[in-house]
Amino acid sequence: MSEVPRFWRESRHRYRLVGTRCTNCDTLYFPPRVICPTCRRESVGKMKEEEMSGAGEIYSFTVVHDGLEQFKMQIPYVMALVKMKEGPFLTAQIVDCSPEEVKIGTKVTATLRKVRSEGKAGIIQYGYKFTICP
Ligand SMILES: [Zn+2]
Repeated sequence: MSEVPRFWRESRHRYRLVGTRCTNCDTLYFPPRVICPTCRRESVGKMKEEEMSGAGEIYSFTVVHDGLEQFKMQIPYVMALVKMKEGPFLTAQIVDCSPEEVKIGTKVTATLRKVRSEGKAGIIQYGYKFTICP
């Protein structure tokens, strides 16, 4: 289990939901951007890292019945577009629930999960997924 802290350190932006906020127009971006697409040159040097809370709600979703190889054990599964409390949208799998429990507007929270393990070395990849708030 010693892999987890290492991945969190090395992949901070991906796994801790750190975005960047343009302090010129106050828009938060995730994934992080170096330059604000609205302010462009005005935003240079004004992008600040900001970690999101992980809280959001389901904006839209799809129930997937035949997926990629690494998801074969979990069919059907739900992929959702989640609107984060802080504003950005992101696409992720909703886990630990049946598809019937997922509705538009359902409150969800981000969680770090094993995505897959690869090759003989058994390298484990982690990524964010969402669970339904109790
Ligand atoms: Zn901006």
